[in-house]
Amino acid sequence: MSLLPVRVYPDPILNQMSEDVIVTPENRAELETLIQDMTETMKANNGMGLSAVQVGVLKRILTATFNKKDFYMLNPVLLDTSERDAKGLEGCLSFPKLVAEIARPDWCVVQYETLDGETKEERYRDYDARCIIHEIDHMNGEVFIDRMEEHKRFFLKGALQSMKTRYEQEHPTGV
Ligand SMILES: [Zn+2]
Repeated sequence: MSLLPVRVYPDPILNQMSEDVIVTPENRAELETLIQDMTETMKANNGMGLSAVQVGVLKRILTATFNKKDFYMLNPVLLDTSERDAKGLEGCLSFPKLVAEIARPDWCVVQYETLDGETKEERYRDYDARCIIHEIDHMNGEVFIDRMEEHKRFFLKGALQSMKTRYEQEHPTGV
């Protein structure tokens, strides 16, 4: 197993759409390794969830750890969510040290696939639902600050700007 580098804001890959995963006998072992590496990477960074795009792979895969239980999902789809939103504090491994209050449904029903080709359905509440929805957003090229109310995002301007400056220093263009 190996730890994978986590892509951080404003890496443009974070705004890209991930593709559905199709498991074949040829790619199964590779996907299994990716899921193991994502799980290790997530836990090493004290994360609760991680989407493949965050380690530079544009595939609809998430890993998560709830109540000390690790799991993964392939091609997760939200079947249903509560109409009522709940506000809660959220962080993201692609935005180190940033915490923001985001309104999200307080429960969701998600359908997903496994490496064995099974289709499963699960219902999540509270912070678990928040995490799953956050990770599915990543697969659609959306990050949590996109979900913030405009006037609240204003207060993060400084933090986001210093992340941009650092990213530009680490990824110089024109060389
Ligand atoms: Zn995230």
